[in-house]
Amino acid sequence: MSRRKKIYEGKGKILYEGPEPGTLVAHFKDDATAFNNQKRGTLDGKGVLNNRISEFVMERLNEIGVPTHFIRRINMREQLIREVEIIPIEVVARNIAAGSLSARLGLEEGQPLPRSIVEFYFKNDELGDPMVAEEHITAFNWATTQEIDDIMALTLRVNDFMSGMFAAVGIKLIDFKLEFGRLYEGDMMRIVLADEISPDSCRLWDATTNEKMDKDRFRRDLGGVTEAYAEVARRLGIMKDAPPNLHVVESTVE
Ligand code: UDP
Repeated sequence: MSRRKKIYEGKGKILYEGPEPGTLVAHFKDDATAFNNQKRGTLDGKGVLNNRISEFVMERLNEIGVPTHFIRRINMREQLIREVEIIPIEVVARNIAAGSLSARLGLEEGQPLPRSIVEFYFKNDELGDPMVAEEHITAFNWATTQEIDDIMALTLRVNDFMSGMFAAVGIKLIDFKLEFGRLYEGDMMRIVLADEISPDSCRLWDATTNEKMDKDRFRRDLGGVTEAYAEVARRLGIMKDAPPNLHVVESTVE
């Protein structure tokens, strides 16, 4: 029953045509997927929480001069963003061993890394997002060397900033995934941060108990997924009055 033109539907979000040229509306769904779509579920209120958490983080990043696609939140589930040309690379930054890095290199989960590590994965569901090197990215023209330099520099700044932001509220930033896009403004093009930053795309552990407060609760059937996301939002000082039934308020336009 939507008046708007759907541009794209992904696993966690729907993108609609925006009110002005060059803008899109991102609608955050409650659907959850893991292991390249093999595990699926619906988590009541997840979209609301991710919309708010991503808004908060993107706004803080905009404030420190990290360019992002984020313009403003429209309502509980939607935000207005700039339309960008997505670079088909998932950029993962890691501070502590976990997930696929632990599996690949036989590192115990929770082991601090000697320094932050940035990895690239080719965004391709059919292939299961394989890890690639800078060589592949430039050889296949997914991005130029200059763009990779910009992406690396932005990723490290985002990592520094977010590590501090979460540490201040008793959360360890283990690792996270970023996506970037090309924003065209007249004759100019610049690389901006796109997609979302939320507990769906970050590993977040409680600093004292190491309890998982992210999508691993869904991936590993630990339960309490949205409760953990709500706790992340609460600690960041957003959604202070989050009602227990988050979906009840989903259509509220603010
Ligand atoms: N990640 C993501 N989307 C993906 C793959 C990974 O958001 O398609 C995030 C994931 O939540 C974690 C980080 O990137 O914070 C590193 O994930 P990893 O490579 O360990 O893969 P996983 O163990 O999640 O398969």
